[in-house]
Amino acid sequence: MQIQSPVKTIINATVLDTTDFTLKPEKTLEIRDGLIAEIRQSIAADREVPGVLDVGGRIVMPGLIDAHVHVTAATAGLGEIAHSSPNYIAAKSKRIMEQMLARGFTTVRDVAGADYGLARAVEEGLFHGPRLIFGGKALSQTGGHGDMRGPGETKLDDHRCCPAIGVVCDGETAVRKAARDQLRTGAHHLKIMLSGGVASPTDRVDSIQFSDAEIRAAVEEAEACNRYVTGHAYTARAVNRGLRLGVRCIEHGNLIDDESVELFKEFGAFLVPTLVTYVHLKRDGAATGLPLESQRKVDTVLAAGLQSLERATKGGVKIAFGTDLLGEMHQYQSEEFEIRAQVQSSEQVLRSASTTAAELISAAGKLGVLAPGAHADLLVLNADPLADVSILARPDECIDLVLKAGVIEVDHASAR
Ligand code: ZN
Ligand code: ZN
Repeated sequence: MQIQSPVKTIINATVLDTTDFTLKPEKTLEIRDGLIAEIRQSIAADREVPGVLDVGGRIVMPGLIDAHVHVTAATAGLGEIAHSSPNYIAAKSKRIMEQMLARGFTTVRDVAGADYGLARAVEEGLFHGPRLIFGGKALSQTGGHGDMRGPGETKLDDHRCCPAIGVVCDGETAVRKAARDQLRTGAHHLKIMLSGGVASPTDRVDSIQFSDAEIRAAVEEAEACNRYVTGHAYTARAVNRGLRLGVRCIEHGNLIDDESVELFKEFGAFLVPTLVTYVHLKRDGAATGLPLESQRKVDTVLAAGLQSLERATKGGVKIAFGTDLLGEMHQYQSEEFEIRAQVQSSEQVLRSASTTAAELISAAGKLGVLAPGAHADLLVLNADPLADVSILARPDECIDLVLKAGVIEVDHASAR
């Protein structure tokens, strides 16, 4: 592994300020201990500083945040992962995370699968990858979206080192215990399954999952640790119920209604749409291991997704950027920018992948922004995403450099 020494000073930067979404030219960024120490106007004497990085007027923006990933999803057949060696899955996760970083994502929020071990491995620099905000395994009821057994299977894979992305728990006590089990590993959030999903073999997309008491138990445990619950849900019925019971973030939300929009605002909750995954599950699902039952479910949620994003945007809901890709489909992660640009402005899309995502993961002021005290996670771009955010859909063309904690981790410019 190549060890790069940290950059101390960046000069001639056009800073993309994510607090007001303007471009600020001729800036110098001083970096100390992986953090931005100071941003000021560039002066001639800056050139003389040793180890200076002159970006020649190019745009410097905060590293991107993807708030819905599964870095352990080595295949779209999630049931298979449970039977795989955890070592094999970890090796696959390494590659998935390296490639996310190369696309400019310097922070990712994993919402089922990743654990404290992977987060620690990146932190210790064992491999290159984004900062990993993990929630451990997702909580699911029997026959719910985290139950990957076919209808004829009875045995659950729940041994300690099983790399399954979920745990099955039924009843308030079992949910509470499963929640505590994830929280004791340092989970940043709890993920629960509030409705049926695509990748699970036996549940209906329009089902609601868990009882009110079970959902409340998870919410109570998360809140006790100053954490929050995020819920997988598609329909307004599942979303609205979850929000009323204290769930503070909704994943997908493809079929929300006007009442959902009001509830999101009332509770200050977040929505994390994941549109790119349906486009590719439809196109490549079969070839990448998605079971037939799951392929049939994709149509239901694909069409409605963009409309819901538009509804939530117009209604003023806090929206974060998410992708939810599995297996070989991870390569399409950046296409989410282009898809969202159909109904959102460039500024709205950029906000979702910077300040709003940072607020969701309790890192406001530290991530998703270039300001004193923030992590020096940044991208050097040769084009302006504020003018057209869809350029980010082709990251190897528009991103020249990816820096994390002031270190150049990816250099696309010299690879061209
Ligand atoms: Zn989901
Ligand atoms: Zn997901």
